[in-house]
Formats: sequence, structure tokens, C-alpha cells
Amino acid sequence: MTYFRDLELIDYHNGPLSAQYWQCPLLAIGWLEAGRPVSKGSCAIHVVEKLVELRHQFAEAFPNYSFRGLHACTLCVDDEVGLQGSHINLFIPGEDAVYLATGRVDHYIEVHGYAPPPQVIAAILNCPDPRSAQYAVAMLRLNRGERPPLFPERWRIFKVDANRVRMTVRIYEMESEAEARKFADMLASRDQSHEYDVERVADPWVAAD
Ligand SMILES: [Zn+2]
Repeated sequence: MTYFRDLELIDYHNGPLSAQYWQCPLLAIGWLEAGRPVSKGSCAIHVVEKLVELRHQFAEAFPNYSFRGLHACTLCVDDEVGLQGSHINLFIPGEDAVYLATGRVDHYIEVHGYAPPPQVIAAILNCPDPRSAQYAVAMLRLNRGERPPLFPERWRIFKVDANRVRMTVRIYEMESEAEARKFADMLASRDQSHEYDVERVADPWVAAD
């Protein structure tokens, strides 16, 4: 894992892990490495509990934006296998920034006495379930009303049989309707017994209206 100072603008890979794709600052939290300064302090147990809960929720909400491998904690002398869940990324909405926290911030707090900045602790405690419309609304607001990079356009490809029954083939993240249609046409060319069509899946913040 790369080291980032807490609250440093983060630019890692592309898409939601890169500040360039966001309209608001994307700030690093808990990207700790041995030999680098660690801000220490006390941190209430319910912060740790909330982080554990969020890690499970983010793993489900955004599996595409987890890293492939586990990260070994370099502050632990004997961690060779890597911390369970360290590949998961937490995108925490703040007042005017998104905090990108590593999946095992709870380990750094519990084992190494790390304390995130107070405004980040508040954001962690207030973070809605990332699978909820409320979370999507918060991200949309932070991204100045533009589509947040965490939520690409999604298109449903469906097939229709002779009785006009519709069946979803799959939901894909695609840049445009044209791209989705091209895919549907390709499926149709291989299957004479169904028609194929596409429709846009409602964005998650729409459900909050
Ligand atoms: Zn450790």
C-alpha cells in the first residue's frame, strides 16, 4: 500500500480512488506505514465498532473498488499474511470532502493507538449505510450534483420471449445507451428465440425523492 498523510489529497489508480474524478477533495485517512508519523490519541470503542460495520457494508456495496490483495500491517512486527478486510476501501462523506479510509482503520486504532482527526471521527459516526439512498444523496451533494464516480451509469439488458415475458439477462455498468444496445444486439444475433432490449437502471439517489 502506498503511504498517504492523513487529509492529504489522494490520487490512486483511477475512478473513485482518484481525486481527479471527484468535484470535491478526496482525502486520505489511515494509510499508515512503519517509519511514518502516526497521529495518536484515544478513540471511543463505538468508533471502532462503526468502522467494522462499515467495512462489511462497503464490501457489499462496492466490491469493484476493493483492492485485489490484502495489505500487511507494517506497524505490526509479525504480520506476514495481511490484515483481513484490508483490501476494502471506505468512502466516508464529510462536510465538504470525501474521506477515503483504508479497510482496517479499526486495527490501527485498536492496536496502534492511532486516532483519526475529530472531523473524520464525526463523519465516520454519521456515515449512512453505503447501500442506502441516503448515502447516494450525500455523495451526490458532495460531488456538486454531478454523478459521483462511485456510481457509474447502469444498464439492464433484458430478453423478451414469444409470450412477451421479460427476463433480465444482466445489469452492466456502461458509459452510454449506445454501448448497452451494441451488447444487446450482439446477444440477439446469437439467439433467434428472443428479442433483446436495454433500459437504464434508476440511480440510487432517485429512490430518496
Ligand atoms: Zn498492525
